[in-house]
Amino acid sequence: MEKILNYINGELTNPVSGNFFPTINPAIGKPYALVPDSDKPDVTKAVEAARAAFPKWAATPASNRSAILIKIAELIERDLDKLSLAESIDQGKPVKLAKSLDIPRAAANIRFYATAILHESADAHFTNEEAINYTQYTPIGVVGCISPWNLPLYLFTWKVAPALAAGCTVVAKPSEITPMTAYLFSKLCMEAGLPAGVLNIVHGVGPKAGQAIIEHPEIKAISFTGGTATGKIIAATAGPMFKKLSLELGGKNPNIIFADCDFEKAVSTTIQSSYSNQGEICLCGSRIFVERPLYEKFLKEFTARTKALVVGDPLDEKTNLGAMASDTHMKKVLSYIELAKQEGGTIVQGGKQVKLTGRCADGYFLEPTIITGLPHTCRTNQEEIFGPLVTIMPFDTEAEVLEYANSTTYGLAATIWTENLKRAHRVAAQVKSGIIWVNCWLFRDLRTPFGGMKQSGIGREGGFEALKFFTDEKNVCIKL
Ligand code: NDP
Repeated sequence: MEKILNYINGELTNPVSGNFFPTINPAIGKPYALVPDSDKPDVTKAVEAARAAFPKWAATPASNRSAILIKIAELIERDLDKLSLAESIDQGKPVKLAKSLDIPRAAANIRFYATAILHESADAHFTNEEAINYTQYTPIGVVGCISPWNLPLYLFTWKVAPALAAGCTVVAKPSEITPMTAYLFSKLCMEAGLPAGVLNIVHGVGPKAGQAIIEHPEIKAISFTGGTATGKIIAATAGPMFKKLSLELGGKNPNIIFADCDFEKAVSTTIQSSYSNQGEICLCGSRIFVERPLYEKFLKEFTARTKALVVGDPLDEKTNLGAMASDTHMKKVLSYIELAKQEGGTIVQGGKQVKLTGRCADGYFLEPTIITGLPHTCRTNQEEIFGPLVTIMPFDTEAEVLEYANSTTYGLAATIWTENLKRAHRVAAQVKSGIIWVNCWLFRDLRTPFGGMKQSGIGREGGFEALKFFTDEKNVCIKL
């Protein structure tokens, strides 16, 4: 079985303990590689390497940092097929999705920040005619980046790219469930000539390797994407240490569909926003609210198209939904389907595990599932499930749907479907989410602020905001 290795001080290394654990290919339900079970000593080594590398990397001209990062982006593009296959095997997603979304976006993340640093400017403030103030942004030091399993390389690079571009050195941990593409990425960094210690990747489990990163006193900032419960642990640990924190957490995103929408676009895009990546995208809409005059027509068409989706081998080009990322996660989603039944919901479509034959007979597959008849207040409609499961509910007025949409503890993303521009603006202003898409979904411009309100997180990624996060800001006032 292939052994994944840590990437510390420019070298691929075994964990200090020598211990590894298996990682599973979720489409076949069997281990296929070994992951370092890293702990505090590995993180200590990684932080030492990052500290040693920091002064030189921070002082490297932006154009030189940019050139190395662009080389890494080019290598990702060169290895598109290999990385897409690796992502699909590790995560369970259809290989065609990895090839069209995950891996191209990983390269785009790096290119975006590699070029952003060539166009940075600083603020200056003139105080009457007596003084000039200018703001200096200096890289903050060694930072920690911790990412989840749903979009592994995509989200790993979304954090690491701005940190490296800003001149920080990094200790990063991908999810234990999906470590493979971060490992392949470390090899590309070596090939591109990234100096030793600038990026260090420590593999392992959250409570050991992850916890050691967030607790380390030399780590000045933490950029985290993952569940709200883990975010709370990170905030509780890092807050009293006065570390800078960016937390991108869970969601329970509403889709608000008015009767005057472009029906075809609303249905086809809502199929995407419900089931892409098996519903394992923090931005997927899981609560669909449809204005009553359209409700029956929408439900009928949406159900027919859901039924037509192919759940199958992620390596098959015809597959729409691949495997769930893990057995544990599949069982969690199934438990919510049981809960929905207990809460009085009707399973209109799906609701069961899919048993494939052949190579994928032991894989973790679920039917895309539609549930109706639930109130917006029940647990199924309040808690993040993170699977191919949506609820559909009718509404009569704008005020009513706004109450439904805003009723959860989350506030990450929302979609609004209407041809009425005034209404689109009015509703967008009142939905408490950090990201609103009107008549589209997952239409991304990397310059825009990305993040959630309420328990969906604090801080914003994207654009120059992410670069600033990894810097210390200083005002210099010069009396004229
Ligand atoms: P988790 O919170 O379980 O894990 C995220 C990362 O944190 C993993 O690398 C995990 O390691 C690590 N971790 C776990 N415990 C600790 C700890 N005590 N200290 C430090 N690190 C720790 O999330 P999932 O991986 O399950 O990802 C799914 C979640 O991510 C969903 O809630 C989803 O909504 C959210 N998400 C949010 C996004 C956003 O942009 N807002 C985008 C994508 C996902 P390990 O894997 O070993 O447990």
